[in-house]
Amino acid sequence: MTKKIEKFLAERRPATPCLVMDLDAVADNYRRLRAAVPRAGIYYAVKANPAPEVLGVLAKLGSSFDTASLNEIDMVLATGAGAERISYGNTIKKKADIAAAFQRGVRLYAFDADAELGKIADAAPGSRVFCRIFTSGAGAEWPLSRKFGCDLPMARKLLIAAAKRDVVPHGVSFHVGSQQRDPAQWDAAIAEAAWLFRECEEQGVALSMLNIGGGFPTRLRRTVPGLQAYGAAIEDSLHRHFGNRIPDVIVEPGRQMVGSAGVIQTEVVLIAQKSEDDRKRWVYLDIGKFGGLAETMEEAIQYPIVSGRNGAPMPVVLAGPTCDSADILYEKADYRLPEDLAIGDKLEIRAAGAYTTSYSTVGFNGFEPLKTHFV
Ligand SMILES: *Cc1c(COP(=O)(O)O)cnc(C)c1O
Repeated sequence: MTKKIEKFLAERRPATPCLVMDLDAVADNYRRLRAAVPRAGIYYAVKANPAPEVLGVLAKLGSSFDTASLNEIDMVLATGAGAERISYGNTIKKKADIAAAFQRGVRLYAFDADAELGKIADAAPGSRVFCRIFTSGAGAEWPLSRKFGCDLPMARKLLIAAAKRDVVPHGVSFHVGSQQRDPAQWDAAIAEAAWLFRECEEQGVALSMLNIGGGFPTRLRRTVPGLQAYGAAIEDSLHRHFGNRIPDVIVEPGRQMVGSAGVIQTEVVLIAQKSEDDRKRWVYLDIGKFGGLAETMEEAIQYPIVSGRNGAPMPVVLAGPTCDSADILYEKADYRLPEDLAIGDKLEIRAAGAYTTSYSTVGFNGFEPLKTHFV
């Protein structure tokens, strides 16, 4: 919660639910990451919060951008940032979209399969390509394993094959999983990447870029290590595994950049007791899984939720307002709210600037997509 957001909520009393983003906090997060991993080029993962206001602040600070679709590419270009600051980092792209990105000047593409490499060579000839490798996702609250990447022998084969096509084999990428609580999780992937660099070099293929992905956390209900601990662990791994031949490094932060910069304000719509002897009250909010809190799936991402009242904390089940029984936010995670909580009360869902507006449905049950105010 920042002073500016607090002031906005107190003075403007916006209709709920809404997200309030503090753009100065986004800029602070950018500077903090810059200081923690000074050697790395920063490619903001647009999907975390694609608001033009957020992209504009980051573009002004000199950030580059990791994009997943043509629309995201166009949103970045609309800030005035050039195509040379864009990575088309989705490993799953239509050939027509690759061609359109190439036409807009994008020259950096991710792949993790032979057929994708073929599409890039055809539609974006001469571009730099990087191969994504698997990680376990261990230690992450929102893992990204299995669907993306390939194993090391496959990556070796594809990078060497890339050299024989009309593309430049540029490097290796990985993602250790989002909201990664363990700074040591980068080490194994950096070691694997270093192995790939050596193997490729033996085959005459010189790689020059290592993309260590996102995963840097934001403080949620549980504390996380400071950003400095991540930077130090990564720097140590780079030295241990690459020696004095450390390649160009890039990072793709999403959550770290915008999570702590946003607060969702929501209203209590209903408080219910399901049976006389049930101690756990159900608290229904005006936002749920379909209104922007998709990452509460399996209660994975646990936001701090704050009430202005100070009655004794009592266990609650938290749920959204839609007519879908999947729209339960927290049932097992032991959330507690004051016993004097009342219908009509406002609650703050903190550290909610990432993966909320971009995950809100267009109007399930007629509820509006999550609105953002910028301060
Ligand atoms: C989503 C994503 C990111 C951002 O991840 P965070 O955990 O939010 O930092 C970075 N890179 C890629 C390829 C992604 O898909």
